[in-house]
Amino acid sequence: MIELKNISKWYANFQVLTDCTTSINKGEVVVVCGPSGSGKSTLIKTINALEPFQAGEITVDGIQLHGLKTNLPKLRSRVGMVFQHFELFPHLSITENLTLAQMQVLGRSKSAALEHGLQYLDRVGLSAQKDKFPGQLSGGQQQRVAIARALSMDPIVMLFDEPTSALDPEMVGEVLDVMVQLANDGMTMICVTHEMGFAKKVSDRIIFMDQGRIIEDCSKDKFFSDPVALSPRAKDFLSKILHH
Ligand code: ADP
Ligand code: MG
Repeated sequence: MIELKNISKWYANFQVLTDCTTSINKGEVVVVCGPSGSGKSTLIKTINALEPFQAGEITVDGIQLHGLKTNLPKLRSRVGMVFQHFELFPHLSITENLTLAQMQVLGRSKSAALEHGLQYLDRVGLSAQKDKFPGQLSGGQQQRVAIARALSMDPIVMLFDEPTSALDPEMVGEVLDVMVQLANDGMTMICVTHEMGFAKKVSDRIIFMDQGRIIEDCSKDKFFSDPVALSPRAKDFLSKILHH
């Protein structure tokens, strides 16, 4: 469903991605991890064309991204994205947050958007909050609304960029639970996260990045159970995050 071939990207003279190649099949859950600054956010942003790239090819559900200008709204509406900092509109109610893009980008009527949005709000367990404003919800609840909002667009893939790393510890679980449920329902997901419990539970594959390169792209079993087979960088990283 998603194919990256030899992607390289520079910020001025700084090469942030070097020759990244991978593909993601429908229904796969891929966890992307690696040290801070290794290019994880940049890599997933290229997939929904939030960041241009200078070399290589990306195809998302048959749409070629290189040099693409015309199909951007269509592409973005099919790729759901949830960031570290929940980016709900603070001046809009939860209901309005859920329905705005459905109406503006997909052209849905208000009632259709509402029905659709509330269905997903229910799925993340927050129906009772529909008339509140983001500031009246906890961080974990806001992040669950952000997930419901992305799902309301009927995406073919969901990208998560460290969705739990800005949350208070007691709220991490409720967001991960929603993500686990989504994975079990068969959603195609690419998740930048260091929540290794989540990775062990639901991921199919792990991508490990370092200095803008994909160093490992392997099954979860190899990553967690066969450390001898891993590169020294990945081994070192894993030992640091698993020992805490
Ligand atoms: P990660 O998500 O793995 O922490 P990023 O993809 O955010 O890494 O960043 C990779 C590298 O690119 C970092 O060194 C970062 O400083 C640099 N970088 C990110 N965004 C920009 C930008 N807009 N301009 C210049 N450098 C950037
Ligand atoms: Mg990042």
